[in-house]
Amino acid sequence: MTPSAKSILIVEDEPTIAQILLDYLKKAGFAPAHLEDGREALETIRRQPPDLVLLDLMLPGMDGLSLCSQVRSFSNVPIIMVTARVEEIDRLLGLEAGADDYICKPFSPREVVARVTAVLRRMAPAPFLLQPSLVEIDLEGQRISFGGKRLDLTPTEYRVLSLLAARPGRLFSRAQILDLAYPEDEDVSDRIVDSHIKNIRKKLAAILPEADVIHSVYGIGYRFEV
Ligand code: CA
Repeated sequence: MTPSAKSILIVEDEPTIAQILLDYLKKAGFAPAHLEDGREALETIRRQPPDLVLLDLMLPGMDGLSLCSQVRSFSNVPIIMVTARVEEIDRLLGLEAGADDYICKPFSPREVVARVTAVLRRMAPAPFLLQPSLVEIDLEGQRISFGGKRLDLTPTEYRVLSLLAARPGRLFSRAQILDLAYPEDEDVSDRIVDSHIKNIRKKLAAILPEADVIHSVYGIGYRFEV
């Protein structure tokens, strides 16, 4: 372990799974620690925040969802939820819980290491934060410019792109994007999100041919990354 090893707090009540995660993360150069109880984890994160939390959904003491939303009231520490329930993903990533990413059980330890690495990299200052002139979101005029070139967006496309671009690296589900793009209409299919994204990509490609900034996550949604 190097002094700069990133600390990962594993909150998991199944000892076998916890041990596998500890072993793999250690081998990958991280400094993992393990807690079984949700309440204890909350206190630890408050007292000594780790670089990332790997959080099981079903826990004694306090479940992962409540724990995640309580942590969000005082910290932006990256949180990856581990869940066997795919139908929970929207809630986990939503404002209610505020997780940064999720991993479905059963998982391969290798996948966990890859995901932890990716989330930590994403949380590092994004290139476009270092050069704010690349993306400009004009909230008042509802306009977005890339590299000084203005995109000609419909109001809905503006809402979709500004949501994604304001949180680079964050994964948004189609349902979340839809809630925002059609706040008053509950009857639209979430597939319409795909066509908005397609149009936005086309417009982006016209002004920035090399930029591939909207990434699809199969079956889930989209994230903005430069
Ligand atoms: Ca569990």
